[in-house]
Amino acid sequence: MTIREGNLQAPTRHPLDWRNPEFHDEAALFKELERVFEICHGCRRCISLCGAFPTLFDLVDESKTMEVDGVAKADYWKVVDQCYLCDVCYMTKCPYVPPHPWNLDFPHLMLRAKAYKFRKGHVRARDRMLTSTDAVGKLATIPVVVHAVNKANRMPAVRKVMERTMGVAADAWLPTYAAKPFRKAVPPSLQWPIRNGVRTPGKVAVFSTCYVNYNEPGIGHDLLKLLDHIEVPYVTIAGEACCGMPKLELGDLESVEKLKDINIPLLAPLAREGYAIVSPVPSCTLMFKQELPLIFPEDADVKAVGEAMFDPFEYFVLRDKDGLLEREFKRPLGKVSYHIPCHSRVQNVGQKTREALEWVPGTTVTTVERCAGHDGTFGVKREFYADSMKIGKPVFQRMAEPEPEYISSDCPIAGRRIAQGITQSGAPEPRRAHPLTLLRIAFGIE
Ligand code: SF4
Ligand code: SF4
Repeated sequence: MTIREGNLQAPTRHPLDWRNPEFHDEAALFKELERVFEICHGCRRCISLCGAFPTLFDLVDESKTMEVDGVAKADYWKVVDQCYLCDVCYMTKCPYVPPHPWNLDFPHLMLRAKAYKFRKGHVRARDRMLTSTDAVGKLATIPVVVHAVNKANRMPAVRKVMERTMGVAADAWLPTYAAKPFRKAVPPSLQWPIRNGVRTPGKVAVFSTCYVNYNEPGIGHDLLKLLDHIEVPYVTIAGEACCGMPKLELGDLESVEKLKDINIPLLAPLAREGYAIVSPVPSCTLMFKQELPLIFPEDADVKAVGEAMFDPFEYFVLRDKDGLLEREFKRPLGKVSYHIPCHSRVQNVGQKTREALEWVPGTTVTTVERCAGHDGTFGVKREFYADSMKIGKPVFQRMAEPEPEYISSDCPIAGRRIAQGITQSGAPEPRRAHPLTLLRIAFGIE
């Protein structure tokens, strides 16, 4: 068979074969790592995407043979540890993804290696803590605790101790915890009639996410206000748990399954009743749209939820295309530097947030489509903090350049990291607002 360079067919993604014992077999894993590293060494397209590829290529170039066979197997982990599963190398760069016969899925191979490591117990207490978003959020938002936690997280002396004892980078800006979590203050939806469009269901179920619930409930409230404004009735999901993305990044597939077993029975009936399920955090949306269906391909409920899932701006833009969204704006936004996070890019829905922000008269949007370097918990870990800031630097510069009225990212965690990067370059702290907040402001909704 002739193997062509590149791949003209649409990429397809194979399910993750994680229940197969070979998936967790050390020899099979290292054989596959070597095979894929050899292809990447010959290609090197992904050099600028993250730290994983430069780490691999440096290991090869500094080895005796200057080939992958000269790299010590123990050093393979250095590559794996630099991958935060953003999926960008698979979705936007790699010409050897299926259906190409080389069948290369770099992020899923990194996930397999992380799962192997997790099963072997090679995981730090810090990483278990950082990925337990629900447990930490519940604890940190206890009324008498929340102010103390927020204060402590801002005290350099406390942060130095946290860095020494827990490995949480002292300089990384951490999110504040909300005195009133989102799910404890959800206003009831107005009773709008259900108007289904060709592209959009006329009722929405909001999967609020841990981050919005515990850290930035205002984003969730802005989403609800926007739904009311465009006359779409909503429900929220009592009993929702973390989507599982942080545990996936740790390679803890058993915890991913446990969380799936909480969320999917709550969401699948809503999907089948014709709700659009909307989540305001791109990583959580991606988890339901793409990752869970690949991890549980036999589960019809997971598939139904994945198919009902929308990014909020995907929903708004399609609602507009359905002729069911009134575009009457009251306030211009001026100059907006808008960042598209990796987990929005790989949803393959186009630049829907940019499109919606550009509806607003008197608004100029500068779009930056590049990794901001935070990537889940990667950017707050002591050993990766400097790498993370380096990855984000071009984004910080380009976002600051137009001297915008607002900086904004669909990913609120990336937005905070960008604000930190801009501030550390000596500029004043920029005004940061989530795109949902910007749209609410533009509509003149209080
Ligand atoms: S998934 Fe993202 S972080 Fe991992 S190797 Fe690919 S581009 Fe790098
Ligand atoms: S993941 Fe694909 S595109 Fe990226 S370096 Fe490897 S072979 Fe090349």
